[in-house]
Amino acid sequence: MRLEINMQSVLSDLPENIKTKLVVSDDYLPSINELIHSSDNVLLITSNGFTKRGYVDEITGYITCNEIHVIDDVTPNPELVYIDSLYKRFAESNISHIIAFGGGSVMDTGKVLCGMLDNKRVSVHQLLEQPIERLQSIALTTIPTTSGTGAEITPFATVWDSVNGKKYSVVNVQASHIILHPQLTVALPYFDTMVTALDALSHAIESLWNVKRNARSICYAQQAITLISDHLLVTLDEPTNLKARSALQNAAFLAGLAISETKTALAHALSYPITLSFNVPHGLACSFTLAALIKRVGAERLKLTQEQVDTLLTLLKSLQLNDKVAKYAAVSELLDAVDQDLDPSRAGNFITSVTPDLVKSVIEESMK
Ligand SMILES: [Zn+2]
Repeated sequence: MRLEINMQSVLSDLPENIKTKLVVSDDYLPSINELIHSSDNVLLITSNGFTKRGYVDEITGYITCNEIHVIDDVTPNPELVYIDSLYKRFAESNISHIIAFGGGSVMDTGKVLCGMLDNKRVSVHQLLEQPIERLQSIALTTIPTTSGTGAEITPFATVWDSVNGKKYSVVNVQASHIILHPQLTVALPYFDTMVTALDALSHAIESLWNVKRNARSICYAQQAITLISDHLLVTLDEPTNLKARSALQNAAFLAGLAISETKTALAHALSYPITLSFNVPHGLACSFTLAALIKRVGAERLKLTQEQVDTLLTLLKSLQLNDKVAKYAAVSELLDAVDQDLDPSRAGNFITSVTPDLVKSVIEESMK
């Protein structure tokens, strides 16, 4: 079954608390320019690959503003010390508009830095200790180039402290504008396309087996799951298929809306120590346990049909996630890492109680 999701109807019925304006665009450059004022001091945040591929020159050459600064050294899993250093660099630059152009790490960096600059929080720790209510004076535009984290819409951002083996969640940093332009995701390589879509799938499923789910989050999640089930393998086979790319982009956005209401749950709680200890990419770390968990929760409690569940299990099996995780760590190492540090704020969202036996059996089964 192929379901066409009407994004316009989703967008016209966003929750009241979401003040973000979304533009679905077939050309991101004029869309950016429409949001920027000529008096703006703009900070463009991206990763190095976009400078190499000419995007940074294209953007800086196209937009009309007072000043434009560029940060292009964001790397995966942004570190607390790195974001603190960015604050010091730009604290006196009177930035009025931040554009985060890239994947989840770029958007999270933009969100956290915007929260700091906007409220004069001089460090990430200070932002965590004195959370802000919302972004106020600095505009933040997110332009995702992967279809995964949903960071373009979620109000929270993850910051990592790898030296101390910790990760933090910064809250209330939702972007003021989002530009979705599916063409920007076409160059994404096979592995990155797969693991980012799996992150989106994990978000959708995690919002379903979640004690905080509600009618709206369930609706977003079901739509995201349908889009990914229908389009992930097509996209992997035909990377330039724009319709499929667009479906995955919409799915990531919808799944982001779903976890904006519920946050994530057990699969993400399991993923964090695994990513911190073995550098397993986030989308892989938070999805390799999905099949085993889906079997334990069952279709009815997931608010999915048995057919949808069977399709998901077939899809997940076909991707052989166990082999991919095994390249980073052995089962015993995964169990040790998870034993030491399971994020209670996420695990506690899971629909049933999380016991050491459940965790052990899920990881063992996932790696078989
Ligand atoms: Zn995630």
